[in-house]
Amino acid sequence: MEATSISYIYKDGNYLVLDKYDNAIRDLPARCIICNCQDDLKYKKQVIYYIPIWTYFIILIPIGFLFFLVFYFLFRQILTVGYYVCPEHRKKMDMKVYRPAIGLIIGAVLIFLATQQESFYPLGSFGIGFLVLSGIVYLCLRPLKFKKFKKGYFWIKGPGRAFVAGLTAEGLEKNISKA
Ligand SMILES: [Zn+2]
Repeated sequence: MEATSISYIYKDGNYLVLDKYDNAIRDLPARCIICNCQDDLKYKKQVIYYIPIWTYFIILIPIGFLFFLVFYFLFRQILTVGYYVCPEHRKKMDMKVYRPAIGLIIGAVLIFLATQQESFYPLGSFGIGFLVLSGIVYLCLRPLKFKKFKKGYFWIKGPGRAFVAGLTAEGLEKNISKA
């Protein structure tokens, strides 16, 4: 693990590792998160959530969903990351978001049509399917992808190689694998 000039940013191979402390916003350096350029950058934010995997299994037991909600709010970890993106990559990111948006519209239309039918099934179930899938696609398209949470640190994938390579160590001594 290599520390950068910003005290809460580390890298672990191609992963960006951010120190979650005090729920502060973790701002990344003012360079495009994809190509590392510095031209006409726009600041954006993304919230990353973590819940322990075992909490998902609770949904499977009877009335587990209620327990899941309790554990979700007890154990979730939230990290807000501020990042920059250049016009070119901003455009690419925005283009991708159209896909789940179209899915959402189709889902909503199907559900509306289903309510006009005698039976909600099967049109309504297709509609709900579209909504769920669109949500998943949307989460996958966000630039920062959560990989791991351990001892107060978030491992994040998604920033371009050039960006990660540009984060240089400046002698901050904190070995997080021993933290
Ligand atoms: Zn860029």
